[in-house]
Amino acid sequence: MPDAAGLALSAFSESYEQAREKFLIQAESVGADIQSYAHPSSFAAGGTPLALDAAWVGPRDAKHVMVMISGTHGPESYAGAAIQLDWLNSHKAFPSPSMAMLLIHGANPFGWAHCSRTTENNVDLNRNFINHQQPPSPSPLVDRVQSLLSPSSAKGPRFMSVVLGLVKLLLRVGITKVVNEISNGQYSHPKGIGFGGNHAEWSNQTLTQILTEGLKQADQVAIIDWHTGIGDYAEPCFLCFDAPDSEAYQRACNWWGEGVEKSSTNYASGQRPDYQGLLINAARDIAQAAGAKTTSSVIEFGTYANHKMLKGLLIDRWMRCDADDASPESVARLQEQVLRLFYPTDAQWRARVLEQGARIVSQGLAGLSAEHTD
Ligand SMILES: [Zn+2]
Repeated sequence: MPDAAGLALSAFSESYEQAREKFLIQAESVGADIQSYAHPSSFAAGGTPLALDAAWVGPRDAKHVMVMISGTHGPESYAGAAIQLDWLNSHKAFPSPSMAMLLIHGANPFGWAHCSRTTENNVDLNRNFINHQQPPSPSPLVDRVQSLLSPSSAKGPRFMSVVLGLVKLLLRVGITKVVNEISNGQYSHPKGIGFGGNHAEWSNQTLTQILTEGLKQADQVAIIDWHTGIGDYAEPCFLCFDAPDSEAYQRACNWWGEGVEKSSTNYASGQRPDYQGLLINAARDIAQAAGAKTTSSVIEFGTYANHKMLKGLLIDRWMRCDADDASPESVARLQEQVLRLFYPTDAQWRARVLEQGARIVSQGLAGLSAEHTD
């Protein structure tokens, strides 16, 4: 019989299909109101339908609502989904009445099922929430950096030549500009890295619909978007995008402590990229438009060093855009490499994710229940 730790680790899955099945079964067992949104055009590799699932736990007219999102970035989905499942497994009651939890499972189901951070259109969903009628103007470095990051060779991305090119560039313009250019999103190179799309993706439209409908009665909303790949190994890394002098930021600090205060400095360059089109900000804006006060953060769990994660991004891009002639063996090997960069098999990493995830959720629910409703 597995011990308690082994039972908890069973919250982690090894495929999109397995995670979805576990989520739906457990959400139903706690009486959640489940809405599933079938993907209109894409399937998993074996032909399995893809869907974005939303489970509402608690009264539909709850004034205080926590939203937890998993699956914005394909292979990063597993950690957030395990935290959601672990919460469902242990949920008994909220700290006060008129509270509810909205669990959004598989925000980008194509990326999850196909082990890519991007959507069916190679779009980074977390750069897609912009006004597409007026996309940001391309930066002066975008062509240079995207051509460096996107070498199409027959055998996969040539990592060392990319790194040498980036080092040359950063000696000229500085590390902050180069890191910003790689990370903040771009709208001019559809086969590049960090492409934010040229219209609202299906996932974007579906999430907007779910959040607009679900939060219309809420007064206080907490939003967590779970990710992996930034920060110290197995440790939570908060990326809170509210202004440091705002009430929303202060609430996040009060609930979750000093980790929030490192939100802007958890980067090799010492400065957070100027991200565009973030899901968390779109979710916050929807809640605020409905009249709610919000407390929100992206929360990452660290995996490996930056240069390894960059390699993962290059492989992911190459697989999506240049790998038509690759053998099934090399596709499988490269997918596994990408998957494990964002989702380690290490039991200690997984146990720490669950432990810290549960702490953050319960602190968030306690903080949310203590906020006054006007
Ligand atoms: Zn991510």
